[in-house]
Order: sequence, then structure tokens, then C-alpha cells
Amino acid sequence: MDYDKQRRRMVDEQIAERGIDDARVLAAMASVEREKFIPPDLRDLAYQDGPLPIGCGQTISQPYMVALMTQALRLKGGEKVLEIGTGSGYAAAVLGEIAGEVVTIERKQELADRAREKLTEMGYANIHVIAGDGTRGCAEKAPFDAIVVTAGGPLVPQSLRDQLKVGGRLVIPVGSEETFQTLIRITRRTEDEYDEERLCLVRFIPLIGAEGWHHNHYDDWSDPDYANLR
Ligand code: SAH
Repeated sequence: MDYDKQRRRMVDEQIAERGIDDARVLAAMASVEREKFIPPDLRDLAYQDGPLPIGCGQTISQPYMVALMTQALRLKGGEKVLEIGTGSGYAAAVLGEIAGEVVTIERKQELADRAREKLTEMGYANIHVIAGDGTRGCAEKAPFDAIVVTAGGPLVPQSLRDQLKVGGRLVIPVGSEETFQTLIRITRRTEDEYDEERLCLVRFIPLIGAEGWHHNHYDDWSDPDYANLR
């Protein structure tokens, strides 16, 4: 498999041709080796145009969706960014290529540990992986220039609004069903004013936590994380 060639094709055909034109985003998508975030038996599908399973009932997002959400954050370089839903760590790596510092939170301990190990091994010293409920954000590291949520919740968590800098952007899928959402961008205009834009319709895994969904029928009842959330 010539992954480098496949990655260049992915950027041209799946990303640039669909209208992503932020040079920083295109460069980041061209440099992060997506195959390294895919389970070995599925690695040859790394540059397919869709999400893929990564274990624990979760998925790595479609490359185009990662590019779209990253572009929606309007990063110029050097920012402090918070990601909720580390999953494989792939989107965190894309953010880490552009931002100064990335804090990423994952609710599944096993995925958090795996992503941390992977990102460290790949040399991303500017990415910090935390295991826990990301709907509360990360008060110790706040405020953030940008926050991105890669799971869909029923509403915009107040903690995340509060942890945005004035001028900061929050991109999050929000919907009243657990399977369909509208991708929303919230911009903090002043201390108490927020603008809200609807970007497009999307499908994400449910955001489960104190300021997200409280239960999830996709989850295995024997999953120890489940007990912690009830
Ligand atoms: N960004 C990921 C895709 C993640 S899929 C990637 O590039 O691979 C969504 C992830 O959000 C899942 O791993 C899920 O476990 C996680 N998640 C769901 N609710 C969460 C919460 N409250 N806090 C942190 N992570 C959460």
C-alpha cells in the first residue's frame, strides 16, 4: 500500500474538491498519517471516504468531516484548542498540526490511553489527552480560542460556552435525536453575547455525559464507564 499517494488523493478528491480551501487545513490533512490511527486489520481502508470502527463501539470520523470541522474553527496557528471526543486521536493530530496546544478529552479510558500512546509515539508534544466527561470541558486549561466536539449532544453544554475566550469559536453537532444533528458554530462576541450559525446536517456518535445524553442504548451495560454515568 502506498499510503502517501492515497493520502494525497484523499486531500484532492475528498477534501479540496468538496470546497475545503483553508491552506492550513489542507496541509494538516496532507501530513497526518491516518493509517496509524486505524486498527491493523482495517488499515488498508484508511483513505476511504467514510468513518471506520476503532473499537469500544466508537469510530474515527470521515476525513472530510474532520477537515470541515477544523476549517469551521477558523484557526490561524498557535491557538489553544479543546477537543471533546478523542476517539482514535486522529482529529487531535490534525488540530495539533495547526494549533499551538490541544487538550482532548475522551470518555472511554481505553481509547484515551491508546490515543495518548499513539500521539506521543508520533511526536505530538503539544497534545494532552485526558480521560473523562468532556461535556464539562476543562476548567483548569480554560479559556480556549476554539472548542470542537466530535460527538452529538442534545444541547450546547454551558460549560463549553463558558470556557470560550471572547472571539473564540465552538463547533458542535447538536440535535434532539441521538443519531442526527445540525453542526453549529457558536462565536463568543462579548462576555455575554454569542452568535450561532447552522453549518450543515451531520451524523455523529452520541455525546454522553453530565451536559450531554444521560443514557445510551448503543452502550454495553457491562461497560464500566456506563455505571459511572448513571
Ligand atoms: N475525533 C475522533 C472521532 C471520535 S468519535 C477521531 O478522530 O477518531 C466520538 C468520541 O466521543 C467517541 O470516542 C466517544 O467515546 C467520545 N465521547 C462521547 N461522549 C463523550 C464525552 N462526554 N466526553 C468525552 N468523549 C466523549
